[in-house]
Amino acid sequence: MPLRRGIGVSSGVVIGDALVLETEEARVPRRIVPRDQIDHEVSVSDRAFESARKEVAAEREQFAARAGTELADIFGFHERWLGDVKPRKEIASLIRSKHYSAAYAISVFMRKYRRRFQEMGSPFLQERARDIQDIERRLLHHVGGETRLELASLKDPIIIVAHDLTPSELVALEKTKRLLGFATDAGGTTSHTAIIAAGLGIPAVVGLENITSNVSSGDTLVIDGLHGVVVVNPDESQRSTYAAEAKHLEEVRDTLAELTELAAETRDGVRIALLGNIEFPLEIDDCINRGAEGIGLFRTEFLFLEADPLPGEEEQYRAYCDAVDAVAGRPLVIRTMDLGGDKCHRGGGWEVEKNPFLGLRSIRYSLQNLSMFRSQLRAILRASVHGDVRVMFPLISRIMELRQAKFVLSLVMEELEEEGFEFKSDIPVGVMVETPAAAICARELGRETDFMSIGTNDLIQYTLAVDRTNERVAQLYSPADPSIIRLIRRVVKDADRTGTSISLCGEMAGDPLFAILLVGMGLRTLSMAAGNIPRTKKIIRSVSLADAIRVRKRVMSFETEREVLNYLRDETRKVWDEI
Ligand code: PEP
Ligand code: MG
Repeated sequence: MPLRRGIGVSSGVVIGDALVLETEEARVPRRIVPRDQIDHEVSVSDRAFESARKEVAAEREQFAARAGTELADIFGFHERWLGDVKPRKEIASLIRSKHYSAAYAISVFMRKYRRRFQEMGSPFLQERARDIQDIERRLLHHVGGETRLELASLKDPIIIVAHDLTPSELVALEKTKRLLGFATDAGGTTSHTAIIAAGLGIPAVVGLENITSNVSSGDTLVIDGLHGVVVVNPDESQRSTYAAEAKHLEEVRDTLAELTELAAETRDGVRIALLGNIEFPLEIDDCINRGAEGIGLFRTEFLFLEADPLPGEEEQYRAYCDAVDAVAGRPLVIRTMDLGGDKCHRGGGWEVEKNPFLGLRSIRYSLQNLSMFRSQLRAILRASVHGDVRVMFPLISRIMELRQAKFVLSLVMEELEEEGFEFKSDIPVGVMVETPAAAICARELGRETDFMSIGTNDLIQYTLAVDRTNERVAQLYSPADPSIIRLIRRVVKDADRTGTSISLCGEMAGDPLFAILLVGMGLRTLSMAAGNIPRTKKIIRSVSLADAIRVRKRVMSFETEREVLNYLRDETRKVWDEI
């Protein structure tokens, strides 16, 4: 039966009945009202705004209680937008000047507003357009003119199939306790919906392009969120294979959980530190529970993405202190904001660039927006007295950038000192090695830093010239390419020569296929998403350093990605046959 491949954003396997959400936008009839009804329609619209705003506020609070304020703040934009008087006024003026009904005026205004975001072409702003669509649906619901699916009336467990899901739709679906998983035409790993799905542990596959045309409500679906696979109407044998797979995954999870207290060390006693990658402080507990020895990458830009206005020093300081509390004495690497590329904050004024990944991104943005950068560094430094905090600069591509960033750090230290704040003046300073330039000049960077972390997600995209977010070239994006492996090896050697501690924190660190190779290449610290820690530990505990070095030598002799992958698969299966 048809098998579709997309992007798995949240692991796990589920089988269930599909419910296809209407892909067509809610149709609102063009209705002209008599003059004496105009005031009434304006008040219907105003009331809809007010009820919708209250509804969002209540949902946000409920969600915050379950998932933490950072994730819940994704709804902050909806709440603020609904509380703003400008859209209300414009809608009222449409009603008054054109005699539109409240529902029609809302839909005309919202579509025009949404189109502005859609036309800007950036994936981030398209995400914002979906928020606007979400708000429109909500308003129409309160006006009473819309026939949308009543989620609360869902009786049976279902798998949702939709063109796209907005964060609030996903949360509403999850609240019904009937949502088994979902599959969408649109979306990518960085969409908010994906972040929430992973946070809530809902198996999901996105970016399937046209799954809504291939599935009807009532079809049976398999969602394999780990491999990004959807099977439509599986036959008996597929059904039993996936049912067994789901059961098996649970058993594997249970077995791996037994390793939590054990060290990640090779059979001959070489210790590997496994750390967690996080976007929000609330993810730290999960990392620790799965055996992380600290946090190797705190992607702080997520604190900025949804915030409007942007978080100031105090707000950031509180977030960093929360993180310091949660790691409880373990190391915490706070990476300064990696804004730009596909991560633009919502505070407005963000210029659309032709090649955002090659544009004003990351450390370049920070160095051009010094007041933001300084307030972030102040917050990090102030939090540093409470624990083992380290600061890391992303996307360094030349030594002068590192020097400039360190200079700003030293200025901020002087300021704090004058103002009487406590901070750690010897806070460890590190860089991410995620551009080919940084990899080639790792020795020079290493001499001026306390640590370096290889960011393979970007290193692969920049080395192979393959956009990491573009599904059309996804097959060309591979950590197994010999160029990537040679670059990593070179960086590790250069770091060793300068005595700089080196780690790897891209997705490659948590991919079981590369665990043996990375150890063989000399890496002793790997930082990854919480869910990948147990299996990486399992593999590390099953090999000796001599095995790992043998694997590295062989891999370094290959010329093609295929050979690397096949060989690593065979070698890994020898010690762990679950991949
Ligand atoms: C990387 O590029 O490998 C990395 C860890 O950073 P991010 O994925 O946040 O760009
Ligand atoms: Mg990166």
